[in-house]
Amino acid sequence: MEHRTLGRSALVVSRLCLGTLTMGPLQANLTLAEGARVIRTALEEGINFIETADLYETYDYIREGLVGWTKPVVIASRSYDYTYEGMRTRVQKALHQLNRDYIDLFMLHEQESRLTLKGHAPALEYLRVAKEKGLVRAIGVSTHVVEVVEACAEHPLIDVVQPIINVAGLGIRGGTLADMLAAIHKAKKAGCGVYAMKPLGGGNLLKRFNQAWEFILNVDCLDAISVGMKTPAEVKANARIVNGEPVPDDITAIIAADKKQLSIADWCQGCGRCASRCRQGALFLKDGKMHVRHERCLLCGYCASVCPEFCIKVV
Ligand code: SF4
Ligand code: SF4
Repeated sequence: MEHRTLGRSALVVSRLCLGTLTMGPLQANLTLAEGARVIRTALEEGINFIETADLYETYDYIREGLVGWTKPVVIASRSYDYTYEGMRTRVQKALHQLNRDYIDLFMLHEQESRLTLKGHAPALEYLRVAKEKGLVRAIGVSTHVVEVVEACAEHPLIDVVQPIINVAGLGIRGGTLADMLAAIHKAKKAGCGVYAMKPLGGGNLLKRFNQAWEFILNVDCLDAISVGMKTPAEVKANARIVNGEPVPDDITAIIAADKKQLSIADWCQGCGRCASRCRQGALFLKDGKMHVRHERCLLCGYCASVCPEFCIKVV
């Protein structure tokens, strides 16, 4: 598999990054052994870039999958914390649960605007200190918003930016697909490492699987492409695609048929917390129960993390 340097971070990563949201409790909820097997398959396929987040609760899978693996691995994690102490706690948790001395890339999760980026200055200051101490090797930001990618290009502390980008422009906010592509080029030109999130629209573009891949692989200024995966078969298929090798039709058919949907159980109390958490405006209340606008839902499962009744699942 091709490896590229992630901008000024100097981290050398495989073009395909294994996203772990899909295997964790917000989605497939794999057993520890199943999750570790997915991680290990990725490593054996030449993928050395693994992405997680504080929210995902997937550190255990990664730690187990790495047992006995001696080649270099780049791990990226993220947190929503905006305070110095809060971010310190999140980094310490990641180090502890992953059983590592450092995290390669630690990012501010899902930044919404230039203003929220400014509001996270104390958390960024902690990451700067952690980088000086060698606890974190690079600092990044993930976002769905065009102006945040532009702001990262100008920010002295940001080494890496991870924007949402896909053939349909699903989930992009504050501009069009063309605007996001222009912002990505700007960040790349400024020296940021840039890697994509949700190139398959969180599963929504599986019907356009080949077209979605063709599009994203042709955005050459992307150093890497992160795809959430939950089975060894998916890992092998996606690795073949990134390597430019044919994927057997039967495997493509299995992946394309894997239709996921957000499901909300009958016992929903209508409290509205999930709707406040969803940045896509995909949830709405009707007759005291929450409902989904499936055409807007990116199947991220973030709303499930705030439901006190455990009503929401990506199935
Ligand atoms: S957070 Fe849970 S209980 Fe509250 S409205 Fe959403 S689905 Fe219903
Ligand atoms: S409804 Fe839930 S799963 Fe869908 S985009 Fe919103 S937060 Fe993500």
